Amino acid sequence: MKRQIISILKWKQLMVNWMLLCVVAVASLTCQKAVGQAQATQNLQQEKWKAGVASVVITPEQSMWMSGYAARTKPSEGKVHDLHAKALALQDAQGTRLVIAAVELLGIPRPLRDWLEKEVQRCYKLPPEALLLNASHTHCGPVVRESKYSIYGNSFYGLSAEQMQQNQQYVDALRQKLLKLIGQAIENLAPARLGYTHARAGFAMNRRAKIERGYRISPNPDGPVDHDVPVLRIDGLDGKLRAILFGYACHNTTLSFYKFCGDYAGFAQQYLEEAHPGATAFFIAGCGGDQNPYPRGNLEYCMQHGRSLANAVEAALLPRARSVRGPIRAALETVTLEFAEPPSRQHLEKEAKSTNKYERRHAEALLEELEQKGGIRTTYPYLVQVVQFGSDLTMVALAGEVVVDYSLRLKAELAAPHVWVAGYSNDVFGYLPSVRVLKEGGYEGGGAMRYTQLPGPFAPSVEKQVIDKVHKLVDRVRASKSN
Ligand SMILES: [Zn+2]
Repeated sequence: MKRQIISILKWKQLMVNWMLLCVVAVASLTCQKAVGQAQATQNLQQEKWKAGVASVVITPEQSMWMSGYAARTKPSEGKVHDLHAKALALQDAQGTRLVIAAVELLGIPRPLRDWLEKEVQRCYKLPPEALLLNASHTHCGPVVRESKYSIYGNSFYGLSAEQMQQNQQYVDALRQKLLKLIGQAIENLAPARLGYTHARAGFAMNRRAKIERGYRISPNPDGPVDHDVPVLRIDGLDGKLRAILFGYACHNTTLSFYKFCGDYAGFAQQYLEEAHPGATAFFIAGCGGDQNPYPRGNLEYCMQHGRSLANAVEAALLPRARSVRGPIRAALETVTLEFAEPPSRQHLEKEAKSTNKYERRHAEALLEELEQKGGIRTTYPYLVQVVQFGSDLTMVALAGEVVVDYSLRLKAELAAPHVWVAGYSNDVFGYLPSVRVLKEGGYEGGGAMRYTQLPGPFAPSVEKQVIDKVHKLVDRVRASKSN
């Protein structure tokens, strides 16, 4: 009897096991089917990409005042090589588009971004979040004048009326060139494959060195850096490399002379395009607000840094790139950043008598604002953009001269297969310090504000506000990709 019960129990156990096996097998089959379907969808996403590239020379045709250094005393004298604006248009399987435009200029003035955003929507039905602009921050490009007191303005560089007019003509022509360029990239859309890879380059060094009282711009081998070189490769279905988008977090300030030049990023693009005929190389400036290329000061170093970066990209191209699938989901929003308490009228009146002409000019501009508007601005409308490529790559594009803490923090926090953080995007108004840099002070912490029309350092809330906005947008684009 006991034996019989055991036997029945065994038989029951066998049945349960068998049923469990069946359930597992069915689940596994269903699972395999689901995986297969997901794989097929992903393959479809990969197969259905379209990409288009276009490039245009934006070197001024005549001698012009150059941007980046206040110490220059005369206009440009020729060029080392041409400056370019390049556009990469991408279209996913659903027909969603994204255009990344990279310009070899010191910055992108907000009015230029606003104008272009409106025009590309009108002309090409491209929504604002689908337009990502990035400036290489070369200090050997023309002044792009946009506002009276800004770093691009005549007050800063002391330009004559004639030079101002010349700048305005350059900006007007640049706007039209960029609009046409974006249209051409869209027109050139053709089937393509996208892949992500990366490598490292070591010539960027932190440039905030501690001195007895505060910080000054000088090589600091112990300061934080981001030596990552992210690369997005675009191949045609024939296997030919068509575009290489690569980034690096470092100022384009090897040079400070009187010839137009894209600095190390210009050379890196030139070397890559020479090595890969038919491919267009795009440089995307990273969070290099507090990073300089060292050593610096002559063309030889500049070419060496360019070679070093191009070699890093070549190294990144050696292993098989990770496939980047769609869909594209993009978001662009403004976060209202707060400035610290504005300086008082008395303080400004004192500074307006300063022997430092930039301090004086800055105080005069703020006094004028106080006079005309009854107060000094207390906030800045800061642009944050996020682009999600399927579940493979997250791109964050931040405005201003972003210090390296942001890319290091975001890459650690966003926990995705790959995160690419760009600075100098959409609106280059001045520096975006982290709380650390803000507290330490120095040039990037607030000192550089005197070269803009902005009142002074940001409030300590600056980092949290920007990071919170990035997380909000990333959550949104990642959630919507599965819809
Ligand atoms: Zn800078």
